[in-house]
Amino acid sequence: AVERPIEMQTARLALPVVAEEQHIMEAINANDCVVICGETGSGKTTQVPQFLYEAGYGSPNTSTPGLIGVTQPRRVAAVSMASRVGEELGHGGKEKVSYQIRFEGTAGPNTAIKFMTDGILLRELSEDFLLRKYSAVIIDEAHERSINTDILIGVMSRVLKLRRELAEKDETKPLKLIIMSATLRVSDFTENQRLFPIAPPLLKVEARQHPVSIHFSRRTFSEYPEEVYKKVCKIHRRLPPGGILVFLTGQNEITHLLKRLRKAFPFKDERQGSNSTSAPPSMSAEDVESPLHVLPLYSLLPTKEQLRVFGGVPEGSRMCVLATNVAETSLTIPGIRYVVDCGRSKERNHDKTTGVQSFDIGWVSKASAAQRAGRSGRTGPGHCYRLYSSAVYERDFPEFAKPEILRMPIEGLVLQMKSMNIDTITNFPFPTAPDRLGLQKSERLLEYLGALDPKGALTELGRIMNFFPLSPRFSKILIIGQQHECLPYIIAIVAALSVGDVFILEHQLDIHGEAGDEDAPRNAGIAFEDTQRAKRRKEYYRAHRAFSSLDLTSDVLKLLSVVCAYEYEKDSTEFCESNFLRLKAMQETHKLRQQISKIVKINCPGVLNFFNPKLPPPSTVQVKALKQIIAAGFIDQVAIRADLLPNSPYKPSHNSAKRVTEVPYMTLFASATFQQDEDALLGPAVYIHPSSILASQSSHPEYLVYSELKKSASSTGKVRMKLLTPVT
Ligand code: ADP
Ligand code: MG
Repeated sequence: AVERPIEMQTARLALPVVAEEQHIMEAINANDCVVICGETGSGKTTQVPQFLYEAGYGSPNTSTPGLIGVTQPRRVAAVSMASRVGEELGHGGKEKVSYQIRFEGTAGPNTAIKFMTDGILLRELSEDFLLRKYSAVIIDEAHERSINTDILIGVMSRVLKLRRELAEKDETKPLKLIIMSATLRVSDFTENQRLFPIAPPLLKVEARQHPVSIHFSRRTFSEYPEEVYKKVCKIHRRLPPGGILVFLTGQNEITHLLKRLRKAFPFKDERQGSNSTSAPPSMSAEDVESPLHVLPLYSLLPTKEQLRVFGGVPEGSRMCVLATNVAETSLTIPGIRYVVDCGRSKERNHDKTTGVQSFDIGWVSKASAAQRAGRSGRTGPGHCYRLYSSAVYERDFPEFAKPEILRMPIEGLVLQMKSMNIDTITNFPFPTAPDRLGLQKSERLLEYLGALDPKGALTELGRIMNFFPLSPRFSKILIIGQQHECLPYIIAIVAALSVGDVFILEHQLDIHGEAGDEDAPRNAGIAFEDTQRAKRRKEYYRAHRAFSSLDLTSDVLKLLSVVCAYEYEKDSTEFCESNFLRLKAMQETHKLRQQISKIVKINCPGVLNFFNPKLPPPSTVQVKALKQIIAAGFIDQVAIRADLLPNSPYKPSHNSAKRVTEVPYMTLFASATFQQDEDALLGPAVYIHPSSILASQSSHPEYLVYSELKKSASSTGKVRMKLLTPVT
């Protein structure tokens, strides 16, 4: 039996899920698949794995020795939940519970419960389709409908069947699948007969949610960050103690607001010219206002930083967490009493016809708004301030969010499914099927990359490509990158491209970094700030110029310079700060290089002898070869300068008068997805992204390959090409 620490035992008994333990375990014993629905905070994630553990799952010498696997859509949730459950299990618990995320894991010989991202379990499935290591798998946060979760559920329905068949022949033990959701919207799983011919039982956990008062705004503001600021100030000044949780759309908004709020409600030692001796926590008019403990929470933030929201609040202050929808369901932040909801979120979208990616800010669904509001009623009665009117909410908010599989490119997924011997993807029991055009395009791209043969079957190359935790295109570039001893450089490039967001963009200069914020001079006048800003900008250009020395025209080679330079620096934090790079992205690039090199060594013997992160500068021959390899990998993403087209309305003479970022290009779609009509082979006009190395040059190459097309968020809405290399 488990001996839990007393205070945890008490807290645990108060969780609604615990009252249902017997019910839940009976259902699991009687069925291979069970669906559990319960509001966020009811105890699903922390308790259900423990129920299984106490029932003997994951323990040697039982009939269910295999691991208990728990998937999460986000890394931070996998890490924090493993640590929480480890603590709850008391003595020896830490050893029993481990986590595994992309670059790190803590699994050991005594692991019984393993938390992991859903991507990790998908990878494991392509290694062992029967998941023999496991006796139970919990797919958590299924309501989020991430691509990986959807696919996992589809694949797992088949694994369950196979494990059941083999168990009847006494060859393995059966496997249990538990799907958990924070909302009742699970009919895509329970009523989909292709997925589960016999509907799995649905267990509802009634949460003892405290009442939450919802306050709509009278008007809907487009300048919502300003409204958020005002609302938080008002709550902090006027309302009784209790944490504030703010939902915003992204990092920029969060860092802006964070700065303003910390400035408005500083801690004592941060106050300008402070000679007030003490700041009592009371809030009478004459008193100095009590400080606000403001913390950011978004996924680009290092995991350790994200976990600070669990760290408690300095005495005499109020906690205020500025979050993206990370905090919507997967993390329960203790002590939240007020929620401020801007009603929007940033969503990655992908246009299936043009391949253009965009990050669009739009209304969340009514279901998400309800989840957000619910975060305030965990500890006691709560309040949710919605910064939009009830009319807008009723009229414009969709009921539910669109599943991710309908919004994202899926070639990586298709390759992964083919590697699991799922040959006819159209027959796969998707909870929500992707559209046919998207599937066709993915299969065509994979065929073009050589991963599939013309019949759609996995090739040997495709099999090797799937070993890499990379998009199929990047795997392909790796595989063709073995000339002139370029491979180590190609690995570095592909790793950085794959991690993405290495550079801090110019327009983010003034708001970058959390760590720096606290130390920034506060008592400075505006003039001083202006000089500071000008100085920073100068520094910024200097850093970028320094990385352009390998090649003046290729963003990809600039990226290579950065990755290589990073490895020669002793103090990587300082290096990233002074060169305007994202430390987290650089650290991940480093780890990914290591991981890719290891996979190359294992699967392509003789190609790479060892991994040395420190690379000498590439020779001139190598620079040329690298550009060619990259161009070859992206040759279906090539753009031609518009004036070069036959009968073009654009004239070369127009170009010289323009800024490079204003010169129109046309994309050529190599794949014949479009009608055979000649005009239709051309995409819309696209433009060089201002962050490109080319933007500071006066030349505009005839042909370019790009790694992505992004629709600009500005009013012009121009489609811009990012990370380019000229084709020579
Ligand atoms: P669910 O998965 O149903 O949303 P959880 O199991 O995540 O619920 O959380 C149940 C409760 O456990 C929360 O309400 C919270 O009080 C507590 N809890 C969870 N994680 C932590 C943590 N890292 N630190 C402190 N308390 C936590
Ligand atoms: Mg949960």
